[in-house]
Amino acid sequence: MEIKELVYNGAIPIFDPSKLKTPLEELLLQIGGALTEAAVLLKGADGQAYYPSVVSLQNEKLKELGPKTIDLLRDVNIKVKGLIYVHYDEYLSEEYGTVESDGRKTEGFICPINETYQERFLKILEEVSQTEIDDIILLLTGYASALHCFCENCKVTFSMDRKMPVNFNFSLLQGDKELYNEWIEWRSENIKTFLSKITEKTKELGLKPIFTVELDPNFQFDEGLKPSLGIDIKNIANFFEHLIVMVNPWEVILPPVQSKSFKELVQRVRNVKQQTNRNISLMYWPPSEEELKTLLTINEEVKSKGLYVFLQYPDQFKNWRETRIIKP
Ligand SMILES: [Zn+2]
Repeated sequence: MEIKELVYNGAIPIFDPSKLKTPLEELLLQIGGALTEAAVLLKGADGQAYYPSVVSLQNEKLKELGPKTIDLLRDVNIKVKGLIYVHYDEYLSEEYGTVESDGRKTEGFICPINETYQERFLKILEEVSQTEIDDIILLLTGYASALHCFCENCKVTFSMDRKMPVNFNFSLLQGDKELYNEWIEWRSENIKTFLSKITEKTKELGLKPIFTVELDPNFQFDEGLKPSLGIDIKNIANFFEHLIVMVNPWEVILPPVQSKSFKELVQRVRNVKQQTNRNISLMYWPPSEEELKTLLTINEEVKSKGLYVFLQYPDQFKNWRETRIIKP
């Protein structure tokens, strides 16, 4: 769908400043009045910062893109939220990458307990806060998948107090119910710890953090958030006032309005709202006309605050999807 139509239907666009097909000045002349809010991606999945940075990968051509995009939007009174990936950075993952149960490194995704990475990420937040954004949306907040992370550091840390060999894998954990439960709890505490650090830092910087969670049938929606991604939403709900729910991000299509799958999806979004007792918004990839109808109906049924849409699929979509939906 054209961005014009999306905006006229009330969707909030997410701009990737490195991928704007029409210059933003031109676009704003066409849709300016209809647009009141937008989000801007501030660091590419490849690790390139779209703002002046000493911590991230920096390219002379790209470093002014973020501030320039934000200024153009703010000049016509559009509220701007920044957007960054928490556990994905193809450049930094060379150093802080995450490892699957079978020992393979998973490209781009980051180990959620790496403290050096976490310090770097908090510096990234400091740099990002220098741009004129109101809030910051945080994407890919959890583990890469149910089969992560089995890097050396994670294995040593988990096994140390548990009188078990360092060389364990997922099937060993699965074979011992008690140990498996400890693993799931430990992972969700790790995510909680880092999200708590992010919350503190953003508040210190005068930014409101908005975390995103992925609700997907491939991991039983809200039920799978903890075992798959390590996100215990009830346990982290006091970190934010506002939560973004990505609906069916890894399914190929969104179900049509009033189908059985549609009703289930609506119920699942409601579950998240009830469990967290927070404001929620929705997020989706570039929708087709039919999908936009579905999204707007969910938006209304769950009294969501808004619908964020990407204007193009990320280049990494296929990899992300394959990683996320691995079944243990
Ligand atoms: Zn790890």
